[in-house]
Amino acid sequence: MDVGGVMGTIVKNVSIVTGQEEAPFIRHGYFKFADGVIVSVAEGTPSPEEIDRVEVIDGKGKWVMPGMINTHGHLGMSLLRGHSDDLPLQSWLSEKMWPFEGKMDREAVHHARQLAMAEMIKSGTTTFLEMYHLYMDDLAEAVVEQGPRAVLMRSMIGLCSESEQREKLKEAVTFATTWNGDGNGRITTMMAPHAPYTCPPSFIEMIVDEADRIDLPLHTHMAETQREVEEHRKTYGVHPLVHFEQLGFLKDRHWLLAHCVHLGEEELDILEQHPCVHVSHNPMSNLKLGSGIANVQSMLERGINICLGTDSVASNNHLDLVEEMRIAALLQKGAVLDPTAVPAETAIAMATKNGAKALRLPQVGTIEAGKRADFIMIDPQCLHLQPHEHVMSHLVYALKGSDVQDVFVEGAPLMLNKELKTFDEEKLQFEANAHYQRICEKLK
Ligand SMILES: [Zn+2]
Repeated sequence: MDVGGVMGTIVKNVSIVTGQEEAPFIRHGYFKFADGVIVSVAEGTPSPEEIDRVEVIDGKGKWVMPGMINTHGHLGMSLLRGHSDDLPLQSWLSEKMWPFEGKMDREAVHHARQLAMAEMIKSGTTTFLEMYHLYMDDLAEAVVEQGPRAVLMRSMIGLCSESEQREKLKEAVTFATTWNGDGNGRITTMMAPHAPYTCPPSFIEMIVDEADRIDLPLHTHMAETQREVEEHRKTYGVHPLVHFEQLGFLKDRHWLLAHCVHLGEEELDILEQHPCVHVSHNPMSNLKLGSGIANVQSMLERGINICLGTDSVASNNHLDLVEEMRIAALLQKGAVLDPTAVPAETAIAMATKNGAKALRLPQVGTIEAGKRADFIMIDPQCLHLQPHEHVMSHLVYALKGSDVQDVFVEGAPLMLNKELKTFDEEKLQFEANAHYQRICEKLK
């Protein structure tokens, strides 16, 4: 309740993609939120009593859906958009990505992330995951100040001495425990060994033990490329996921595995047997890096929870989950020669409630009473959304990220009428270019 005596906000005159099991879609309805929490969702029009002493937003036929959830990314790399394309993965990394990242300083990383957060909000993402090793405290402060929801972690590469590993682990634990729950619960944290090919098993074991101790979920890259799987087999005799299982890393632990492109029957069985293990599907990045196509259809048939991620703009090259939903749906149909694979409802779930489950965020992902008020609004008054009858279909097969008009997190507006409320868009563009040029100068 605010000092004016207004108790909450009602959004009326909208179509609502609720994401709820029963009544997943309300053609014409309204919903109320107060103190950042959804109080009620209903069909029809609110009564005069209901709108008494309440702020009313007239949606005028807009579509409302849960804010989208980007479950894998590296925002700190956002100045690398277009820096290098169309190269084999190994030379792309060693000749282009790593030298640039090696020259990045605090300001460059800060502006990269500002650009990324703003881009995500503009295309309807309300929650993002950041897995990176640089200046994580700066990002946490920005998230608290600028309003999105974020799952943050200090990523760890273990190709170093044991004392350096311990130093990184200490830093990751300090970061995770300092910020978990901050920003009125908008920040949560995870523990993140970078990947099986960059972290020896002994180091992953140390990380897993710490995650248990502080009760946090884990995130890592898994089986992104064929080459890394082959090399793991050469070194350890088994697929990295089988290795994880043999070492007891998966048992009763909440894991989110990014990519999972190269899994066979044995590995899919393992995922099926571990419902605490979730998959972040990053179709665009997997295509651009020539990594392959994840077997999403098989995972869905086995009941494995799959959500969506963009990865960084260096391998995407955008952070638009609308596009990612569409690619996820189309790619799978083409890959398994079946137009019924990944239907629109499934693609929407992957971008919303499946992501919430994978990030251990039961408070978001659907529009229903008791959930936090993280939602987006789309104005269907444009040619490519006509006729506007089939909302669920349009969200996946016709929508553009730039159609998103309004974005709310915890009931607070982060964008209204396509205007960002907590970012200066013009300044972001200027800074991104200035810092990119500056780092390029350092590389000469
Ligand atoms: Zn990644």
